[in-house]
Amino acid sequence: MKYFSTRGAGPVTLDDALRLGIASDGGLFLPEQLPAFEVGDFNGAHNIPEVAHVLLNPFFAGSSLQDDLDAILSETFSFPIPATPLPVDGHDVSLLELYHGPTVAFKDVGAGFLAACLSRLEGDVENPLTILVATSGDTGAAVAAAFDERPGMRVVVLFPDGRVSERQAHQLSCWSENVLSLKVRGAFDDCQAMVKAAMADPELSSAHRFSSANSINIGRLLPQSTYYADASLRHFRRTGNRPAFIIPTGNLGNAFACIMAREMGLPIGPVILATNANRTIADYFDTLEWLPRASLQTLASAMDVGDPSNMERLRHLVGEAAVLREQLGVLSVNDGQIEAAIKQDFAEFGFATCPHTATASHTWRQLDRSLADEHDWILVATAHPAKFETIVEPLIGETVPVPPELSELLSRPAKARSIEPTLTALATVLE
Ligand SMILES: *Cc1c(COP(=O)(O)O)cnc(C)c1O
Repeated sequence: MKYFSTRGAGPVTLDDALRLGIASDGGLFLPEQLPAFEVGDFNGAHNIPEVAHVLLNPFFAGSSLQDDLDAILSETFSFPIPATPLPVDGHDVSLLELYHGPTVAFKDVGAGFLAACLSRLEGDVENPLTILVATSGDTGAAVAAAFDERPGMRVVVLFPDGRVSERQAHQLSCWSENVLSLKVRGAFDDCQAMVKAAMADPELSSAHRFSSANSINIGRLLPQSTYYADASLRHFRRTGNRPAFIIPTGNLGNAFACIMAREMGLPIGPVILATNANRTIADYFDTLEWLPRASLQTLASAMDVGDPSNMERLRHLVGEAAVLREQLGVLSVNDGQIEAAIKQDFAEFGFATCPHTATASHTWRQLDRSLADEHDWILVATAHPAKFETIVEPLIGETVPVPPELSELLSRPAKARSIEPTLTALATVLE
């Protein structure tokens, strides 16, 4: 399988698309053609690694990683991704729990797969690859967890001191020797600027073999499409229906993976994007004009994106707004609605949802009656609520039980170095 940039550059191999992350012309990599599947192709596949093998095998054709695919998948899917039925009268509704990985958010899947691939392609104990990651919370922890203790790989995480929650800071700082955690005396934008400046510096980047693990890497999207394949196949075998999905959306990586699975023939019905108050996608569907903008801060902070980069992939694969809005729904959910949904979820489901997941449950409750009745629904849960306990607990008036994955991390010692928001400061600690 060959890969091309959305802007035309290529072809490159899967190995190079994984190594490079972004194409030389600034575009994003996509396979030259998506493979086509029928439900029967998955007859022998009964768990996620088996489904993933069938789905991803064509993407690995010709890659040096082809023989390692099963090992990569068993490293990636070391935790379950269940769809739990919700107690909703008269409808078949379930919650796809993407939060059972090491840092209890869905980014563990993409980060784990990318780490398993990159360590095989680039791991070099003599001259380690250095993954630089600027984070406002979830991404950095998932990347650190995925590369932790991998020989020949080093991770440098930069996060804004005092601007992530206490539990997030801990999750960013509790790793082994090969993960360097830096709390930057500045904002997230400073962290991002430092990473960009370091990667653009020829001397530093040749000394440290820099790479990034950001969300536009095709290696994050491919494994995400497998849990949509698995969940839809399970549902289809059980009921004969193609389930509809509602997906909390920020940079559009998770939702793009679902659409990609549907394009490949998996039994997936309507797909609805739930965003927070960042309305760029909703406005695009309304006005047909793509107007990226600065992001607004919301309670669903991991979705605070004003310029969702994967829209470039979606327009390339499916089409412009006039076509897209025929195939996808979108609803923008504000903070007041998120708070109300967290309370209502707790009352109706008997457990709490995180602020991101609450955009999906709010969207589900807002559906037209006829649309809701016409389909079975899968709401996508992107993080465990215990990760956002300072928002969730006051709303529900109870403590959220901490899941074992999270308490294990919180019980480890944490250490982060404090640095000034400058390239010089970063260069010094890298030595
Ligand atoms: C990253 C993230 C999202 C948004 O996912 P995208 O792929 O950027 O659309 C939603 N919820 C949580 C908890 C996240 O960490």
